[in-house]
Amino acid sequence: MSPEDVPRLLQGKIFQNVYMCAKCGYELFSSRSKHEHLSPWPAFTGTIHDDSVAKWPQHNQPDAFTTVSCGKCGHGLGHEFLNDGPKRGQSRLRIFSSSLKSIPKGNKSASQGK
Ligand SMILES: [Zn+2]
Repeated sequence: MSPEDVPRLLQGKIFQNVYMCAKCGYELFSSRSKHEHLSPWPAFTGTIHDDSVAKWPQHNQPDAFTTVSCGKCGHGLGHEFLNDGPKRGQSRLRIFSSSLKSIPKGNKSASQGK
């Protein structure tokens, strides 16, 4: 559980946002895997589904990072930085906020795009 979940739990309900592909609406990330980072872009440690994103390693780049796109429609999402997560061994997925739609889990409007 991340620290930002605590005040929400104290309010009596677990509040969880789901981040979807802005193009096709596929579920990509949960706010549970979101973490703060110095960069202005949203950062995640993992995806909701195993096939939420497709990864395209950039072998010709000096830093170990991977281009990440939507696993469903191929919409470009951002990059994964290997071993740059909040814990040792975790990756940091830096996603462009313009590539995501955020909705509260359980919201009926979440069915759009399916
Ligand atoms: Zn998509």
